[in-house]
Amino acid sequence: MTERPATYCPDCGTVLAQRSFEGRERQYCPDCERFIWQNAKPCVGVVVRDRNKALLIKRAIPPDVGAWASPGGALEPDEPPALGAARELREETNLEVDPAALTLLDTRHSSLNEKYVLSIGYVVDYSHTDGDVAAASEVSDARFFTLPEAQEIRDQMRDYTRVVNSFEHWKKGNQTVVLG
Ligand SMILES: [Zn+2]
Repeated sequence: MTERPATYCPDCGTVLAQRSFEGRERQYCPDCERFIWQNAKPCVGVVVRDRNKALLIKRAIPPDVGAWASPGGALEPDEPPALGAARELREETNLEVDPAALTLLDTRHSSLNEKYVLSIGYVVDYSHTDGDVAAASEVSDARFFTLPEAQEIRDQMRDYTRVVNSFEHWKKGNQTVVLG
């Protein structure tokens, strides 16, 4: 599997051809006689809610250095989503959370820099986390925002919709939202 359409076969290095399968042109290795699938990258995000506030981090690494977002990142291949969300939360904000305490919030399909991303969002109450919030790995700031405060920096946010979802989440009886 690749994020962008592959040019060479990852196994034998042969230049790939295109072959139609199930209504799409797909990358195909004529030597290995197999398709090299392109898929969206699985990512996770977690919104930590403290009453009327949500925890945001300021990104210190590309892409979007300086943008605000919920803590999150790419899943390791052998990592269940909730475990990955807890890991990313710890790495970026120093907060510990039991993956079992995370509630599924939404799924989000998007493209960023020509790569497709499938992000699974979780929400957890701050009272279910341990530790003190600190800007940690790959992050230059980490703090709580009210919804009006988040609205003010909406243009600088990567996942504004997810943060809004987290505020709507409790109102709607903890429904999971699917965004494309
Ligand atoms: Zn090959």
